[in-house]
Amino acid sequence: MTTLPSAAELLEGAHVVALPMRVRFRGVDVREALLLRGPSGWGEFSPFVEYADGEAARWLACAVEAAYAVWPAPVRDVVRVNATVPAVAPDRVPEILARFDGCTTAKVKVAERGQTLDDDVARVAAVRAAMGPSARIRIDANGGWDVEAATDALRRLRAYDLEYAEQPCTSVEELVELRTALARNGIDVLIAADESIRKADDPVRVARLGAADVVVVKVAPLGGVVQALEVVDACGLPAVVSSALDTSVGIAAGVALAAALPSLDHACGLGTVGLFEGDVASPPWRPAGGVLATGRAVPDPEALAELQAPPDRQQWWRDRLVRCHAVLAGGSD
Ligand SMILES: [Mg+2]
Repeated sequence: MTTLPSAAELLEGAHVVALPMRVRFRGVDVREALLLRGPSGWGEFSPFVEYADGEAARWLACAVEAAYAVWPAPVRDVVRVNATVPAVAPDRVPEILARFDGCTTAKVKVAERGQTLDDDVARVAAVRAAMGPSARIRIDANGGWDVEAATDALRRLRAYDLEYAEQPCTSVEELVELRTALARNGIDVLIAADESIRKADDPVRVARLGAADVVVVKVAPLGGVVQALEVVDACGLPAVVSSALDTSVGIAAGVALAAALPSLDHACGLGTVGLFEGDVASPPWRPAGGVLATGRAVPDPEALAELQAPPDRQQWWRDRLVRCHAVLAGGSD
């Protein structure tokens, strides 16, 4: 990493924003972020509020990299992105897909609390019907199934030709067990690991134990573009880059990672700025024709003023930055 600037320097050009969400997502209806500015451009520090400082410090490292370092050179100019279909009723699927211009891959949320496998099957069927046979459809269970439920679910859902199933079970051990069960039952669905990478002390363990076929990586939880590239390289598996509900500033860092991956065969989950009612950049870093361009998102001063978080929340984020800075400066994590 580049030399760590002082906390005071980081705070000097910092703005804390609060972005209202169009739809409640991940239990959040307002997304807060601290944006900081350095010689290279803007960086985003937006770990979810419940994260402890050790985990949140990696997000600060990513923001500092964006603002003070030079991202690795891209090997592609644009990155294909996927549409995201939340756990809605099947009749809402066409309206949701219409928000994602030109996307030929969709990620469908499944295993939602309070819903059944029939609900999941109906939703995935509706997505396949709306997008046609050539589209890629992946599902994301966010660890919501045990091994048996996942085996049953994938036995039914494979009829819709899945690109992969993301985090069907919570633990790495369960993913290993599931892959064995799928092979034994002749269910040919690939498994992707998301939470098992992002929340893990050792993100490479997934690959070492043979728990996944694909890894989903997010740039901020892994500490920046350089660190994330190292994790992907160490895993030795195909990667998909995803956002963590970032503003356009954070999305641009995700695109920088996706653009620098030596190979990229899957659409990335970076087309998420549309989930906000407003964004800091004009124009926002939203996909057109199913792709996002590489580059730097520059916040618009008016938008920063308009989206400014209340004073108590600004102070909370500034205090958090100082604590996470201490973690990085101490070299502990
Ligand atoms: Mg996921």
